[in-house]
Amino acid sequence: MVLIKGPIIIGAGPSGLATSACLKKQGIPSLILERADCIASLWAKRTYDRLKLHLPKQFCELPLMEFPENFPKYPTKQQFISYMEAYAAHFNLNPKFNQEVKSAEFDEESGVWRVKTGEFEYVSKWVIVATGENAEPLIPEIQGIEKFQGKLVHTSLYKSGAEFRNQRVLVVGCGNSGMEVSLDLCRFNAHPHMVVRNSVHVLPREMFGLSTFGVAMALMKWFPLRLVDKFLLLVANLILGNTDRLGLRRPKTGPIELKNATGKTPVLDVGALSLIKSGKIKNCEFFSEDGMPKTPFPNGWKGGKGLYAVGFTRRGLLGTASDAVKVAKDIADQWKKTSLWSS
Ligand SMILES: Cc1cc2nc3c(=O)[nH]c(=O)nc-3n(C[C@H](O)[C@H](O)[C@H](O)COP(=O)(O)OP(=O)(O)OC[C@H]3O[C@@H](n4cnc5c(N)ncnc54)[C@H](O)[C@@H]3O)c2cc1C
Repeated sequence: MVLIKGPIIIGAGPSGLATSACLKKQGIPSLILERADCIASLWAKRTYDRLKLHLPKQFCELPLMEFPENFPKYPTKQQFISYMEAYAAHFNLNPKFNQEVKSAEFDEESGVWRVKTGEFEYVSKWVIVATGENAEPLIPEIQGIEKFQGKLVHTSLYKSGAEFRNQRVLVVGCGNSGMEVSLDLCRFNAHPHMVVRNSVHVLPREMFGLSTFGVAMALMKWFPLRLVDKFLLLVANLILGNTDRLGLRRPKTGPIELKNATGKTPVLDVGALSLIKSGKIKNCEFFSEDGMPKTPFPNGWKGGKGLYAVGFTRRGLLGTASDAVKVAKDIADQWKKTSLWSS
């Protein structure tokens, strides 16, 4: 049993390091236990090569130490790692590596926490959990996946599209990682198809040269959240166009309100959307689980590869009429072309 004077911090990612540095500033020692063999292991080992910070650097600094001045607005993952290494060195933070915490129990009798790794038991009055929101990769259960002959990889193990050159790749999920991986696959001449289960807010990374995140933060100081959301969506529609048309339905709740309520982060577009528009990234499914077209009225009538839907608009016969005219016109255009070829 090892008695620790200050708190035990579990995890040596940005959260664990920042907390330890802040404690040190107050003159309080701490012990950081990290299951990996390095600091910031998520960034070092479980992210793709082309990753840059999604948000501008001023929103990603850890307390008490700024980014180096020569860093670009969106530092690369390597730069971010070097910053965290410098941070740990500056505050003389020395986590204990290869120490996976298996349990942490409060001992009522002695009023202390007993934190167990495989080998040791550490005891302290305080435990700080800094194990990250993305600690464990999750691969959903997919029926029949065991018969799939190709490569199956979680984004945390994806490095670059180099190994998928000229292959068709199904990207499941379209959050920031799914969108960026799809973009990366295109850069390596692979052919990504994206599956989008739920609605998603895609926002431009920047608006009028300012980061969208920064704009939102500034506006929220003055205006109610719903008004800010309305503004963001208005500008997003002006810059990106109607993403519903691309099969990326927007949730009914605005982007910031949704983030606050559910933690679901809006996707900040870094180029994937234009590839979806041009058809280089394909959006797979036409119908959602309830059998309705994913793209709502008035654009839900056309899928891919000659697939159409009429009368799924929740607008009765008016919707049917609108769909029918569009479908007929679309097919007629193709028909004429085919007849020209065959005549
Ligand atoms: C691809 C990607 C890009 C992101 N980009 C941004 C961005 O630009 N801006 C932004 O603000 N946020 C971003 N985030 C979100 C978030 O800021 C990062 O995930 C950040 O690394 C979170 O830091 P953390 O220390 O809380 O968690 P982590 O970085 O996940 O660190 C947790 C640490 O705890 C360790 N650990 C876990 N369980 C145990 C255990 N049982 N025992 C011991 N150690 C354990 C892990 O090994 C890990 O080292 C991004 C996230 C991802 C996945």
